[in-house]
Amino acid sequence: MDHEQAFELLPGYIDEELSLSESLEFERHLDSCEKCKRAYEQQRQVSTQLRQGDLRLDAPPELEKRIRAALPMRRSLWQRVGQRFGGFDATRGAGSTGGARGLPGWAPVGAMVVSLVALASSAGLYLSVPSGDTRLTQELVDSHVRSLQFDHLYDVISTDRHTVKPWFDGKIDFAPPVIDLAQQGYPLVGGRLDYVSGHAVAVMVYRYKLHPINLYVWPGNDAGNVVRIDERQGYHLAHWSAAGMNYWVITDAGEGELNGFISNLRAHTAS
Ligand SMILES: [Zn+2]
Repeated sequence: MDHEQAFELLPGYIDEELSLSESLEFERHLDSCEKCKRAYEQQRQVSTQLRQGDLRLDAPPELEKRIRAALPMRRSLWQRVGQRFGGFDATRGAGSTGGARGLPGWAPVGAMVVSLVALASSAGLYLSVPSGDTRLTQELVDSHVRSLQFDHLYDVISTDRHTVKPWFDGKIDFAPPVIDLAQQGYPLVGGRLDYVSGHAVAVMVYRYKLHPINLYVWPGNDAGNVVRIDERQGYHLAHWSAAGMNYWVITDAGEGELNGFISNLRAHTAS
C-alpha cells in the first residue's frame, strides 16, 4: 500500500470501516510513514472531539452553497460524514450518476460538515473549497451530463448552420459563431440554449463519431487566448477566450479528438 492509498483509507480506518486485510495493510504503512502517523493522530482527535462536544452551528447560506458545490467531487468523504452522524443513508444514491443531488436529508448533515470544517482547520487539516473556476467546470460537467441524461442535447436539430445560427436570433443578445466542421470529422448536429454561471449561453452540439461534443459560448474574456485542457469525471474540458467570447468545450471523446476539434474550430472563428 503506498502513501496515496493509505491516506485515502485513513478516515475509513478511524471509523473501523475497513476490511481486516485493509486494516492490516494500513497499519503496516502507518508504522513506516510519519505523515500518515501525524494525520492519523489529528483525525483521531477530531473524531473524539466531534463525538463529545456540543459543536453545532448554522451554516451561513454562502458557505452552504460552496459546500454544496463541492459535494459531487468529494462524495466519499461526505458519505463518511453522513454515516458517522446518521444524517443520511450513504448507500442510497450511490448507484446514481447524479452525485449529491441524489442524497436525501442533506440539511442536518450541513451543520455537522461545518463543524468538521471548523475543527479540521483548527487541527491543521486541509479541506479545499473550490475556486470560481472549479465551480464553473463542475457546472459545465453537470450541464453536459444533464443534456445526455434527459435527452436534451438540442432545441434545434440541424446539420445546417444556416438553420442553427438564425435559431439563436432574439433568444440571446449575442451572435455565437456557428460553424460546420463535418469535413473535418466533427459534424454540427444542433444547438440549444443553456444557463451557466448566471449567463444565458449558446450551445452548439457537434459529434465526433458517437461522442457528443458540447460547445458553450457566451460573451466575455474570462480566460486567455491559450486553450486550457482539463479532465473531470471522465470528461475532457477545454476553455479559452477569443474575440470577446468565452468558449468551453466538453466531451467524452479523447484528448486528441478534442484538440483536433478545437484547432479546426479556431481556424474558422475570429481570434
Ligand atoms: Zn503515508
